[in-house]
Amino acid sequence: MLRLRSRDAARAVHELRAEEPLGAPRMRRLVELLTADLAGLPTSDEPAEVREARQGFEAACAWAAGIAADTEAAEQATREAAAADVAATADAMRAGKPRPKVTQLRRAEGITDAQVGCEAAEVLLMEAHERYVEAARETWPTWRASAAGAASSDHEAARRELAAGLARVASAGRRYLTAERLDSEILARFPEVRVKVEAETVHGLPWYLATHSGRRPLRTMAIPGLKDKGKPVPFDLPTVLAALLAAVEAEAEFPAAAWLPPGDPEREAVMAAPLDLSAGWVRSAVSRAQGVCGCVLCQRQAPLAELVVAQDASRDGAGLELVHPACARKFTEGAQARRLSARAARYQRSGFPPPPDAEPAE
Ligand SMILES: [Zn+2]
Repeated sequence: MLRLRSRDAARAVHELRAEEPLGAPRMRRLVELLTADLAGLPTSDEPAEVREARQGFEAACAWAAGIAADTEAAEQATREAAAADVAATADAMRAGKPRPKVTQLRRAEGITDAQVGCEAAEVLLMEAHERYVEAARETWPTWRASAAGAASSDHEAARRELAAGLARVASAGRRYLTAERLDSEILARFPEVRVKVEAETVHGLPWYLATHSGRRPLRTMAIPGLKDKGKPVPFDLPTVLAALLAAVEAEAEFPAAAWLPPGDPEREAVMAAPLDLSAGWVRSAVSRAQGVCGCVLCQRQAPLAELVVAQDASRDGAGLELVHPACARKFTEGAQARRLSARAARYQRSGFPPPPDAEPAE
């Protein structure tokens, strides 16, 4: 069974096969539709069986294209044979000779052959599509897990290398500045040397002045395409690099990795395990369920970054709510104080002195 990504694609394939006659145009359109349908399946980190199935589909497409070309050639040959038959028959009649044997029928067999080829190619094409989709479905849990795992280690390596690169850039910038500043500090203190070096020339060029009027490297940069009044906008290079590193560091969590697809052997265990209340996706989901991003204890709205997820076991369902950590602390301490004073009251009612850990009575 063909598993197509969208209803539109399924309808287009169905209509094509139901309405269009067998032949090269239908074959080419089918290849086009099925190829477009599969175009979104990723090819990076592809498991071997998926790669094989994809290559099988590509081979089926190439084969179908060959069949389509053969069919067209057969049709063209038939048209030419028909024209030749008419011309030969007319010639014979004009000359009063018997009519020649027509070649058109023999040629038409070529079309039938080609059409059978088309139908067979369609079957193979659809089977190859099914095999490819099935291979992707079967390897889904392991494929996505290995892609997400590799992405996470790539991300970590990128962060590390970017930070190291950034430190290098900063150090290089400092050292360029050291050399340049040393020149100007010393020459300012020794005017006789300054006069001498400023007057010096090499091959007719003012050596000191010409080498100290250019730009120091690693200070500013332009972003291609970003212009102000037709001129590139200069950005402070260390600031841009720091922003780049911050962007790479900011989003360390990949929420989709916290989910496992049907067929993953870990799935049941993960669903049964306690929820990680600090996970970003849990906080976002609780915030969405609450309808407003704020603390349920003090009732104030607050950015998600300031809140934590707490579990209220007395409520229905999961009882997850967003609270300020400070409000949660105050609430817990208050509850504890209430429990302690209730205990003290019980002791006093039954004739005992207040327990040592009770609040002194007012
Ligand atoms: Zn609060």
